[in-house]
Amino acid sequence: MIPVSKPYIGEEEKKAVLEVLDSGMLVQGPRVAALEAEFARVHQVKHAVATSSGTTALHVALLAHGIGAGDEVITVAFTFIATVNCILYAGARPVFIDVEPDTFNIDASQIEAAITPRTKAILLVHLYGQPADMTAIMAIAEKHGLAVIEDACQAVAATHQGKAVGSFGTGMFSLYATKNVMTGEGGMLTTNDDALADSARLLRAHGMRRRYYHEMLGYNYRLSDLHAAIGIEQMKRLAGFTAARQANAAYLNAHLTSVITPVTRPGNGHVWHQYTVRLPGRDRDAAVKQLADNGVGTGVFYPVPAHQQDYLHEVAAGVSLPVTEQLSKEVFSLPVHPALTQAELEKIVFEVNRL
Ligand SMILES: *Cc1c(COP(=O)(O)O)cnc(C)c1O
Repeated sequence: MIPVSKPYIGEEEKKAVLEVLDSGMLVQGPRVAALEAEFARVHQVKHAVATSSGTTALHVALLAHGIGAGDEVITVAFTFIATVNCILYAGARPVFIDVEPDTFNIDASQIEAAITPRTKAILLVHLYGQPADMTAIMAIAEKHGLAVIEDACQAVAATHQGKAVGSFGTGMFSLYATKNVMTGEGGMLTTNDDALADSARLLRAHGMRRRYYHEMLGYNYRLSDLHAAIGIEQMKRLAGFTAARQANAAYLNAHLTSVITPVTRPGNGHVWHQYTVRLPGRDRDAAVKQLADNGVGTGVFYPVPAHQQDYLHEVAAGVSLPVTEQLSKEVFSLPVHPALTQAELEKIVFEVNRL
């Protein structure tokens, strides 16, 4: 089976972890700081703050922006559930809007109609590795005085008009095992705002600047040096990983004929966390099964959008998102990861074109 994702773990990653074990400095050592510095450099920001996961980075981002009870956050339902859960952790209310059918990203033309006096932030997702329309979103946010939080968990080093994701507003990234660069579990928050970075560092570690003096209610959301050591090696591979994903996506775009292939907006540097196609008017689940039976792994991201999850029925009462609902029935993702061989790409094309 050609897997839909495959973490790359080389000898350097293994050696780096053993070095940390030998050093005895397992937490708050030099690796976390080094990974933060590299992440900040790649994303053209002043500060990167490492956390234990993408989810905890987002929770910290919302709290650092002062978002809490009574506030509304405009977001999408076509995402991994963490995007929405973090709004609920902060005590705020998610206000869902629809996505664009061709890029799968937030439909910026629907944002203004969703703004109320309670709106504090726009929380967008750079889904599958393609930046959302940051030009339009930043203009709307500025006009209405809203914070912008970028869920860039799938979009490490992606760019919009030459500018890195995570550098427009407050960014957050995941370093989970299947993401484009990974530490097993891990996350990162990015910002150019000194005060916000300071709050994020306090929130991450029990509100503690001076040992055992606590300035605020904080959490233990720290990343360990064992994880950071893996991340440092992965960041050295990032440019190569991204180029391989882009070449694989270009091959699939050029050769697939039986499905609707993904659209990249001009000006976007897409990093292809997922290569996601649509099969309208057909039984998606039967197609996915046929591919699996023939050795091609796929993923469905996401079969049930957030507003249709049972446990959110009160939060999402009366919400209707026609494009999101349609996409959740039609999409599936094909392997695009850097380890694919030419023979595997050809097999994927052959199997998909005879669906
Ligand atoms: C992976 C992911 C997250 C959560 O990241 P974790 O590191 O698993 O907590 C959030 N949002 C999106 C869009 C993701 O893909």
